[in-house]
Amino acid sequence: MSKYPIYLDYNSTTPCDQQVVDAMVPYFSQHFGNASSKAHAHGWYAEDAVSQAREQVASLIGADAKEIIFTSGATESINLAIQGLAQKHASRGKHIITVATEHKAVLDVCAHLQEQGYDITYLPVDAMGMIALDQLEGSIRKDTVLIAAMYANNETGVIHPVAAIGRLAQKYAIPFFCDATQAVGKIPVDVDTDCIDMMAFSAHKMYGPKGAGALFIRKKNPLLEIPPLFYGGAHERKLRSGTLNVPGIVGMGKAAALCQAMMASDAKHLQELRDMFWKEIGAIEGVQWNGQQDHSLTHVANICFNMQGGDKLIKTISKHVSVSSGAACSSATVEPSHVLKAMGLSDTKAHSSIRFSFGRFTTLREITIAIEEIKKAVSRLS
Ligand SMILES: *Cc1c(COP(=O)(O)O)cnc(C)c1O
Repeated sequence: MSKYPIYLDYNSTTPCDQQVVDAMVPYFSQHFGNASSKAHAHGWYAEDAVSQAREQVASLIGADAKEIIFTSGATESINLAIQGLAQKHASRGKHIITVATEHKAVLDVCAHLQEQGYDITYLPVDAMGMIALDQLEGSIRKDTVLIAAMYANNETGVIHPVAAIGRLAQKYAIPFFCDATQAVGKIPVDVDTDCIDMMAFSAHKMYGPKGAGALFIRKKNPLLEIPPLFYGGAHERKLRSGTLNVPGIVGMGKAAALCQAMMASDAKHLQELRDMFWKEIGAIEGVQWNGQQDHSLTHVANICFNMQGGDKLIKTISKHVSVSSGAACSSATVEPSHVLKAMGLSDTKAHSSIRFSFGRFTTLREITIAIEEIKKAVSRLS
């Protein structure tokens, strides 16, 4: 066994692909120019690299390079989009529709807006983690200025009917923002077919570096002309001032290009691993799958072990396998996952649920060892 546990927590963050690291390295000391230095070759070189990355990122999601704003990550992109849209349309209305199972990055921004007088509708989900489209349509009001719904859930992998949500938003001329952090690079995401107006995603969830992300903003739509979060230099179409993180952006571009090239082979590999994992783990007595399995990311398995003292199970398994109990952001506290609670799981069930998420570098051997360790831990504790 290696020094470290087996990493089955790819939804928290992914390792950088070595090809991404290799692409980034020259931009630290060799091509270190500031991408906004217009007067010299150092600046041009950096600017060219950023342009190429912008093309690569845009291509992955079917967008135009002009529609990509580079940020520090999905959390920043989410704040920029939601706060920006809320502020822009405040005079028209203050009603926002989102979903109970969104990532904290979305829920916390909504809570912040609520304190400022906005009215937020949190759509419920069913036991499978799915929203009901008629319920979404029914909650649209005259003063609704934003629909914010994620593409795929980070805890369960459940994929939402994004295109249908987008068409509804279009029908009522309401901007549709999508947190696609878990979907981009893993499954085909196309901002046109999916009718998305704004979309946040992050490099470190798709084998790129931490600290780099993007916000897609559909062009030529006055409804989407939002104000920035901060000022100073007017970089990124005045929406995100500050010297560009050239190595990070180059890394995100390379990661996007790799994901595009490898999407089919990654997906096939991951489906095989998950099927094998579930065949064994699903056979353990009392075990249950959380979420709509046939409509989920193929690399995620959120599994309820249905036993008392779930924290003990996670502790025992964690010695050998890095996993997450619910979202990473809430794992510092003992709060049961808000996602599993929204799906109707009891506290006991939520506490004995574990999220396993696999990735490009997960091997069959690692899965075999993980299965053994899980079985051992379960039989010791039950
Ligand atoms: C990881 C994650 C985020 C936050 O992304 P950062 O780039 O780490 O800020 C937001 N939404 C979802 C669904 C995520 O999985």
